[in-house]
Amino acid sequence: MNYNKKTVRDIDVKGKKVLLRCDFNVPMAKDGSGAITDDKRIRAALPTIQYLLEQGAAVIACSHMGKPAATYESYVKKQTEKGKDPASLTREKWEQSRKELSLAPVAARLSQLLGKEVMMAADVVGPDARAKAAALQPGQILLLENTRFEPGETKNDPALAQALASLAQVYVSDAFGAVHRAHASTAGVAAFLPAVSGFLIEKELDIIGGALANPKRPLVAILGGSKVSSKIGVINNLLEIADTIIIGGGMMFTFSAAQGGKTGASLLEAGWVDYAREMMDKAASKGVKLLLPVDAVCGDKFDASAKTMVVKTGQVPDGWMGMDIGPETVKLYCDAVKNAGTVIWNGPMGVFEFPAFAKGTQAVAEALSKTDAVTIIGGGDSAAAVQQLGYAEQMTHISTGGGACLEFMEGKELPGIACLLDK
Ligand code: AMP
Repeated sequence: MNYNKKTVRDIDVKGKKVLLRCDFNVPMAKDGSGAITDDKRIRAALPTIQYLLEQGAAVIACSHMGKPAATYESYVKKQTEKGKDPASLTREKWEQSRKELSLAPVAARLSQLLGKEVMMAADVVGPDARAKAAALQPGQILLLENTRFEPGETKNDPALAQALASLAQVYVSDAFGAVHRAHASTAGVAAFLPAVSGFLIEKELDIIGGALANPKRPLVAILGGSKVSSKIGVINNLLEIADTIIIGGGMMFTFSAAQGGKTGASLLEAGWVDYAREMMDKAASKGVKLLLPVDAVCGDKFDASAKTMVVKTGQVPDGWMGMDIGPETVKLYCDAVKNAGTVIWNGPMGVFEFPAFAKGTQAVAEALSKTDAVTIIGGGDSAAAVQQLGYAEQMTHISTGGGACLEFMEGKELPGIACLLDK
């Protein structure tokens, strides 16, 4: 995939209406108050928004939020599948469920952050959005309603893409968290307008794309999380690129089983043992160092209050679960990071949600904060761990996309990037 895409700097936006796809899918308080519990994604969009407004563009921002049911019928189907009584599923309830996923609270927060009014449209491409977009003046900003209120969004319906495009003269994508999805507002719309990236996507492409295409070596990839099956593509692709691959998290037990070890009650994907063996062989034949844990911290149950015990890899007793990398492994992994040129990290080393099994993840985060290497944290849990532990400032880059970053590391084509104009 070509990562060298045109950006907002390469296109004249003065006096133009710009449709800007953001990732405003922010976490909201569960009490229905509309309070945003973390506005990081809104802040991340500010540089592009401010640049466009300063350049004299009229900005029509849009985003999805959550997974609303786009039609009453799909709402009834989904809720019935969840076991709800169909008789209780009124249209009012459907409308209420959509209201809870309105972007109105985002408009309010964005307005505070920008220090200027952010107009809100009551729909996506309906009469209100069209009238407000038509009246929008340079330097003003309008936010459309949740793009997933439209049934055509997730189907990448060309009619919706065209309706969105008709609101503006230029399309700017800055929603890195959504570029792995071919939806009407993330990809389809680019067929109808000149399409470029904003600063957030530019940065993600520069840093992650740069590390994959032309890394400062040695390139060390640290992979953790729960399952091998969700990281297969990443392991496979990184075996072509990395100098060292470090394995932690629940998936280490599938590798341990491949070495003939005892895994007790640990997370084990029996169907992936052969694959793990294949990856070990592939690493050996390519001269890639594949580091596997030498010990593990086990618990007698999957709980924060579990009794703990450190065992050598392959010696997990029956009834015990491996829930973190052990102290010897921590030393081994931290040493491997010390002399790296680039480190890419995706997935925690253990069940870091329980303090007794968070040490491996903490130690890796600390080691990354101390190295001179380019350090890239690939979204999701590892990003949250680095932030919680206070190491965020010491990292070169923390990706804003979980799924998008994973697919990027798999070497997959990202539809929301592929659709942008090449430089
Ligand atoms: P993922 O979404 O695949 O990146 O996985 C993240 C999750 O993996 C976290 O919630 C961790 O608690 C979990 N995890 C990490 N190590 C283990 C382990 N040894 N056993 C079970 N779950 C784990």
